[in-house]
Amino acid sequence: MNWLTNYIKPKLESLVKKRDVPKNLWIKCQCSTMIYYKDYEKSLGVCNECGTHMRLPAETRLKFLLDDNKYEKIKVPSTIVDPLSFKDKKRYKDRIKQAKRKTKEEDAVVIAEGKIEGKNVILAVFDFNFMGGSMGINVGNSILKASEISVKKNLPLIIIPSSGGARMQEGILSLMQMPRTIAAIQSVKKNKIPYIVVLADPTTGGVCASFAMLGDILIAEKGATIGFAGRRVIEQTIKETIPDNFQTSDYLLEHGMVDMVVHRKDLKNKIYKILKFLEKKN
Ligand SMILES: [Zn+2]
Repeated sequence: MNWLTNYIKPKLESLVKKRDVPKNLWIKCQCSTMIYYKDYEKSLGVCNECGTHMRLPAETRLKFLLDDNKYEKIKVPSTIVDPLSFKDKKRYKDRIKQAKRKTKEEDAVVIAEGKIEGKNVILAVFDFNFMGGSMGINVGNSILKASEISVKKNLPLIIIPSSGGARMQEGILSLMQMPRTIAAIQSVKKNKIPYIVVLADPTTGGVCASFAMLGDILIAEKGATIGFAGRRVIEQTIKETIPDNFQTSDYLLEHGMVDMVVHRKDLKNKIYKILKFLEKKN
């Protein structure tokens, strides 16, 4: 044993190895409560002190929602990485690499097939940790792929957005994902397949203004921020102060923009009941 095996080797291994989330990890809520990882899993990422529904990595979200924590990931081939050779403080290519390392995902949305109380469903789940869940070409492709499989297999489609909106590094190409995804959802609807959206925190910008608000049923998670333009932009434009709870899930429910606000612990059962109801209708 020497400093090479004691220090350098573990350091190198920690850089190369893909690590699981350590089970003794503590997670900090915005109310400053420290939550032990096992309790975090038990409460599905909801703080028992203040009720905050924390943002979940796509993989954790899928595990929490699906039977036996199991799902089959569907791969979507990634396309042009940097169409505009974009650079601000960092190169876009580097940002993508960094986000991939951080999340272990290919882009900001993961699509999968799994079961909810025994019912097979196709899911597209956003990961906010991947560049703010922003929608670029690859995300658009994933929504298209999820819709295509949902139609092909005649399985309900569930999308769970958590996104800051369009990915500005892809310029107009990211905005083009809005009509593209809407057209994909239309094909699901034409085939009379249920399409459910679970609006998670935050659902904003171009994502909110496209496929996210087109669900047959719109479920909002408790405490989620949902809206198109940011609060400050609206206030400056209309020269008025807007209410404190503006753009929250409860506010949207009061104003008829979503169908229900659901606590995360009830989400699975609620989706199951909706699917069963829609099945009967069909
Ligand atoms: Zn809290």
